[in-house]
Amino acid sequence: MNQNYKNCISILFCVCISLFFVTDLWSLDLSRKKKNAERKLYIPITKKDRCVVCGMFVHPYQKWITQIQFKDGSYRSFDGMKCMCRFVNNPGKYESSKKKQDIQLILVRDYYTLKFIRHDKAFYVVGSDVLGPMGHELIPFDSKRNADIFSADHNGLKILQFNQINAELLDKLDKAKKTIHLE
Ligand SMILES: [Zn+2]
Repeated sequence: MNQNYKNCISILFCVCISLFFVTDLWSLDLSRKKKNAERKLYIPITKKDRCVVCGMFVHPYQKWITQIQFKDGSYRSFDGMKCMCRFVNNPGKYESSKKKQDIQLILVRDYYTLKFIRHDKAFYVVGSDVLGPMGHELIPFDSKRNADIFSADHNGLKILQFNQINAELLDKLDKAKKTIHLE
């Protein structure tokens, strides 16, 4: 009886250890899948890609990259938020073959983590002392909390969501005086 009891305990112990490893491997697999999904979301640009709005090469401005993906699998990348927003407002102005309804996905880059996130999930800091390649920018964050922190640290004026960005604001940002060295 005593021996049986000991056997039972050993079996139970082995089952627990196996379960622990299986669960661990499973969660590792899940996090790997999540990372791959994020990687697939963004289409890596080439050194030859130019912003179709201002004509600048996009590659040197990695942390400012935004990307529009179209239903036909093509993409356009931009050297910042302002250029991307201008394109979204009126794609035909910059490329006659592209239309608003052809857009499948718009990605912006979280300023702190550099992760690509959907444009409509981001919070944008406006009027801060951090400038992009084209001067004053809308700086994206994946949470309101991080946008608040950045805004407090860098004298931000406003925090907006994508549907609050309009042509008037883009013009104001373009005209705003450049007081800080480019980042
Ligand atoms: Zn541009």
